[in-house]
Amino acid sequence: MPTLHEELTAKDYVQSVYETVIKRNPHESEFHQAVKEILDSLIPVLTKHPKYRQNGILERILEPERLITFRVPWVDDQGTVRVNRGFRVQFNSAIGPFKGGLRFHPSVNASIIKFLGFEQTFKNSLTGQPIGGGKGGSDFDPKGKSDGEIMRFTQSFMTELYKYIGPDIDVPAGDIGVGAREIGYMFGQYKRIRGGFEAGVLTGKGIGYGGSLARTEATGYGCVYFVNEMLNSKGLSFEGSTVVVSGSGNVAIYAMQKAFQLGAKIVACSDSNGYIYDKDGIHLETVRRLKEVERKRISEYVKEHPNAIYVEGCQNIWTIPCDIALPCATQNEIDESSAKLLILNGVQAIGEGANMPCTLEAIDAFLKAGVLFGPAKAANAGGVAVSALEMSQNSMRYSWSFHEVDDKLHAIMKNIYRNSVRASEEYGAPGNLVVGANIAGFLKVADAMLAQGVI
Ligand code: GLU
Repeated sequence: MPTLHEELTAKDYVQSVYETVIKRNPHESEFHQAVKEILDSLIPVLTKHPKYRQNGILERILEPERLITFRVPWVDDQGTVRVNRGFRVQFNSAIGPFKGGLRFHPSVNASIIKFLGFEQTFKNSLTGQPIGGGKGGSDFDPKGKSDGEIMRFTQSFMTELYKYIGPDIDVPAGDIGVGAREIGYMFGQYKRIRGGFEAGVLTGKGIGYGGSLARTEATGYGCVYFVNEMLNSKGLSFEGSTVVVSGSGNVAIYAMQKAFQLGAKIVACSDSNGYIYDKDGIHLETVRRLKEVERKRISEYVKEHPNAIYVEGCQNIWTIPCDIALPCATQNEIDESSAKLLILNGVQAIGEGANMPCTLEAIDAFLKAGVLFGPAKAANAGGVAVSALEMSQNSMRYSWSFHEVDDKLHAIMKNIYRNSVRASEEYGAPGNLVVGANIAGFLKVADAMLAQGVI
């Protein structure tokens, strides 16, 4: 006798699963958005292979293995006790230990952490490395905090988090607001509590104590490698192109550097206050020094380069005409109207350096207009891929050269591109890399879960 699920069309089944997710996770709009994108992509898979409708595979994949919430008390420079909320979502460990960054930003809440952990599960699967999906962070705002405050906060954060992580259990790394400095403080605190040097417990570490060369560059470089594959498939390239990059953090800086090396002119980048525009090309070293070393606002750039202009408000960066747009700032930074403007201005390719930077409506507009679209799970997977390489080096107590890691990263990005294209073709959406990446990422995780029984 057919089960209830088999009587429904795949589309109806997906809709009913989606409605359950909304009911179970009320007020979590970012999580709903990420779930909707995946579920819609999976309709052809569920139609072709009924086994993915059985055993509660979808229902299990949509529910994190656990979500940990904790108090993070710390003392500010005035001696006042402050309290933030810490999170770690351990979303899926079917193919490896939980793996994913930590985000420190005032917007962090359960919905944001769950959408990120959910996406991470498929992204990590796509890399071909043995890593499951996780994510974490805090609503702590690092902006304007002293170095001492950052250290006390991160130490307190790790004093609780350490209970749940380990080199074979869950391996955090950085994300927005968490860079080499914060990873260093967290690693020190973990080592102190555990009383042993477990290098593989965190990635993105400093080179002198177990970090991997090319990890800093990996997300940005990887994004450009991925977009380059898309461009090449249409006989296009970065050479001579005009590029707009949002953000000026770790992802943006190295995306700009690699695009520049491939012959592009980068005319704009931004931070959360506004953007800089230079029609002759941004001076990348100034941006890197201002943001990475001096921790200043991007508006300072125009003091050193008076030819450039600074515009208040980061959203308007998408009004600048460009051939290639690399949104490398944060979620939902390109909505439908920004997408339509980019299309009107002749954009040829989008590479999502940030996680979920385009709304579902924006993605739809790009795909309908025939714009090459590199979805985040594929295009920004280079960071976590090199994190997995850092874990391998830590296990071997060995380190590869910059070129060895960069070559491996390049090969991984090409592979992700090929697998996404192949899946898009096999499941009736040729060239739609959103569908291709979602399907390729899903199949590996789902097959591992099926093989491991009801877990
Ligand atoms: N935060 C990055 C991401 O979104 C990197 C995670 C990691 O290296 O574990 O993929």
